[in-house]
Amino acid sequence: MYKVAVLPGDGIGTEVMDQAIKVLKRIEEKYNTKFHCEFSDVGGIAIDNYGTPLPDHTLKICENSDAILFGSVGGPKWENLPPAQQPERGALLPLRKHFNLFVNIRPVKVYPALKESCSLKDKFIEDGLDIVILRELTGGIYFGQPKYVSEDRKYAVDTMKYSVEEITRIAKVAFETARLRRRTVTSVDKANVLMTSVLWREVVTELWKNEYSDINLNHMYVDNASMQLVRNPSQFDVILTENMFGDILSDEAAMLTGSLGMLPSASLNEKGFGLYEPIGGTAPDIAGKGIANPTAQILSAALMLRYSFKMEEAAKNIENALEETLKNGFRTGDIYYGDEGTIKVNTEEFGSEIIKRI
Ligand code: NAD
Repeated sequence: MYKVAVLPGDGIGTEVMDQAIKVLKRIEEKYNTKFHCEFSDVGGIAIDNYGTPLPDHTLKICENSDAILFGSVGGPKWENLPPAQQPERGALLPLRKHFNLFVNIRPVKVYPALKESCSLKDKFIEDGLDIVILRELTGGIYFGQPKYVSEDRKYAVDTMKYSVEEITRIAKVAFETARLRRRTVTSVDKANVLMTSVLWREVVTELWKNEYSDINLNHMYVDNASMQLVRNPSQFDVILTENMFGDILSDEAAMLTGSLGMLPSASLNEKGFGLYEPIGGTAPDIAGKGIANPTAQILSAALMLRYSFKMEEAAKNIENALEETLKNGFRTGDIYYGDEGTIKVNTEEFGSEIIKRI
């Protein structure tokens, strides 16, 4: 039995989470396992009910669980609160910090049935697009000290710092991920200019030589990587990179797929404990209408099975069921273009179509 802290949050969070829970129930049946899901408030709803975006009892439930399945938080109602009390800053960032979630995993996939929603011309994605970006999440220039604006405000300083340990632990995750895929890691750095990148490249190469020489490893400068992502994205399998480069490249890559509602993410710590969430937000413009795309939430649950519970077959089963659902023409509004053979469905119907195919 696995214990899952389920934090749906605000806006479409609750609507898409319902579908992910339905999928987990189907997986329980099929794989003869049990997920003990404990629900708790987080974000705006927690502010309304308890006066804080991350109540102590919610944190306790997370601490007592094997993984966190997170929806999304925030919305116009809470936008005027002081920054530290706002839903995202007051809940998501403390959760990442509390559990030391140092690696952010973001799969980026364009499904053949959904080629029309890719922002590139067909000829650039003829070989398909299926990338996983591994971004270091707790180090680098976002956290390095010192960090300040001078008293006379004439200059400012940020510090980029990485230790061998920080680089090694994320590189390991990248190589392990590649072993489950097409066995290619592209490590992205700026080793022609930055000393942190020189060390990054050395550590990644050493680890590869000693433990992962079955994987194809190549190194790429970040400026080239950003260009290659729009020129020939099919060349990538696993992209491994530091915090700031990953922040920028993962948004660039995500937009190749066309809809925010399609993309899941996982943030993990060293023990494999993870927080799994869609990359998009609470979509206030469509919240409450029952029309949101539940794919990102359902695929986040699949990532939870893969990374925290080592249930690779069940994870693949969910991903294949989604692909089949798309192939059979089912579309939520955000990915519906009126093409022949496609049918527009709501959140609930789309979730049910996936479940039928598991
Ligand atoms: P958003 O991702 O909520 O919405 C951007 C656009 O994408 C909207 O048009 C929305 O309808 C669409 N969209 C997003 N997810 C969708 C889905 N599953 N199905 C169909 N369409 C979808 O971004 P935003 O509008 O900038 O932010 C809204 C709120 O969400 C803000 O309060 C923001 O702070 C919060 N937010 C939370 C998280 C998080 O919890 N991790 C992330 C991003 C934004």
